[in-house]
This record gives sequence, structure tokens and C-alpha cells, in this order.
Amino acid sequence: MSIVAAGLSETMGAFARSLRSGPLTEPPTALRAGVDLGTAYTVLVVLDEHDRPLAAAYEFADVVRDGVVTDFVGAVDVLDRLRRDVEGRLGVAIPAAHGAYPPGVPLSEVRAVANVIEAVGIECSGLVDEPSAANEVLGLRDGVVVDIGGGTTGVAVVADGVVVHTADEATGGTHFTLVIAGALGISFDEAEALKKDPAQQQRLFPLVRPVMEKVASIVRTSTRGWPVPTVHLVGGTASFPGFAEVVSESAGLDAVVPVDPLFVTPLGIARSAPVVPTAAGYRYQGRP
Ligand code: ATP
Repeated sequence: MSIVAAGLSETMGAFARSLRSGPLTEPPTALRAGVDLGTAYTVLVVLDEHDRPLAAAYEFADVVRDGVVTDFVGAVDVLDRLRRDVEGRLGVAIPAAHGAYPPGVPLSEVRAVANVIEAVGIECSGLVDEPSAANEVLGLRDGVVVDIGGGTTGVAVVADGVVVHTADEATGGTHFTLVIAGALGISFDEAEALKKDPAQQQRLFPLVRPVMEKVASIVRTSTRGWPVPTVHLVGGTASFPGFAEVVSESAGLDAVVPVDPLFVTPLGIARSAPVVPTAAGYRYQGRP
């Protein structure tokens, strides 16, 4: 087991509470915000200037593929709903937010992420690559971050606190769902719901184990020649119980999963953003 950032469980616990936070009694005078447009989930996170989560929201939406915005209007609609929800709870407008992109995506495509953020009236304060964002939360000095999302698995080697090597492969949670749908003869949506039901995961494990092994082989191949002290599995698909054990066993590596792996990268995007002042004395009334 490796030593991850001290207090990671507390950090993720505070984040989980911010998903359910009610209206703040005192609107913040400054904040940091991050937007994660993913293949499966879009997440909006707002922190105070001390990195304490204030409010966050997310929605399942199929608007991005491999970091490329495939449904611009749909992405703007989803983010706008999240913005209204979060701003309503904060009591102030979000002036600016960071976005993120998987490494290896052309800059012209990355720009679309900023355009989505700006289309909902939030200034895009910058863009960070996803593994660096994840490591803002994990705080690794040396290690490997493996982000298993909906469509892809991103692998990043961190040395001396900096991401020095990345790789991205088209295997992710969608493949788990397809395997379950095929084996049980059910629709994709039914299989997706079943996959995330903790009561079903033990019986589904033998079906999805080969996809976990495929992820392990991606990790082994894409880190060949690099030191791999410990592998940290993040992203929603890392929530499936037993994943770390399969990667440890079949890749012969030491793998761990933090609490709430789905939210590590979104939280890190917000932590990568600058602190911006909110409109002083302005009481949020909702935007048109
Ligand atoms: P990508 O990184 O590929 O763009 P994304 O950012 O949307 O996608 P995440 O939000 O990290 O990816 O993860 C989404 C995936 O996680 C989906 O396939 C979803 O079904 C899966 N997932 C979410 N929660 C669970 C769970 N509890 N158990 C298993 N899988 C889960």
C-alpha cells in the first residue's frame, strides 16, 4: 500500500457532502471552480479559497467522446443546469472555472471545452490535463495514475510530482456495460444500471473481470520502461469492487483505489483553478 495524500478520505468525504449541500447562509466572497466534461458524467465543483468544497453537482450525459465535444448544444444544456443548481446553493454567480482534457487530444479540440464553459456565462480560467488534475488531489510524488472513465483508460506516470509520461486507450466503463448487456441479453441502459448496483456487482464480477484484465494489460504495456511504485486507480469505473485486486494480480503491480474515485479528477480540476472574487455584496437572483 502506498502513502497517498494525507487526509484523502476526509477530502473525498467533504466533497461527497458538497454534492448534497443546501443553500449557504453566507455566500462566498471568493471561490475556485472546475468543470469536468466526461464521456459519461459532467461535473461542476466549487471550492472556497482554502480548497474546502462548497457545492458540487453532476449529471450523466453523453456529450463528449475521448475529450472531444461531440454534442455542443447538449453539453451546454447539461452544464447550464449544473450551474443553476450550484449557483442557487452558493448564493452567488460563478465568475470563472477551469476545464480539463485527456492528454493527447489536439489543442483545437480542447478549445471546445472552454467554449462550452463560456457558453453558460462562466469565464474559462484555463485548462488542465486530467492526470495532473487527479494528482492535485492524490498528491503523488512518484507513482502511476490510471483514470478509467466511460470511454477510455488514461495512464500517467508521475515522477517528482510531475506527469512525465501519458497514454490513453479506448477501454472503459462502457465496455463493462456492453459485456454485461451481451451476456445477460439486456439493453445497454439496463446493464448500466445493473453494473452500478452494489447488490449486483458480486455476481457480475466474473463477467467484467476480463475487461479489468485488459485494463491491467494496458497499464503494464504503457508503463514499460518506467518505474511503477504504485498504481492509483481513479475514474468512475474504478468504483467496481475488486478492480485493484485484479490489476495487482494480473499486472503484478501494487494497485489501490481511493474513496469515491469518480470525483478525484473533477475535484482536482477545481483545485487547479485560480481563486476568483465573487461579485462583492451581490446577492444572486438567478440568471435568465
Ligand atoms: P472519460 O474519462 O472516458 O471521458 P468520464 O470522465 O465520463 O469518461 P468517469 O465519470 O470517470 O468518466 O466514469 C464514468 C464511468 O464510470 C461510466 O462508465 C460509469 O458507468 C462508471 N461508473 C460510475 N459509477 C460506477 C460504479 N459505482 N460502479 C461501476 N462503474 C461505475
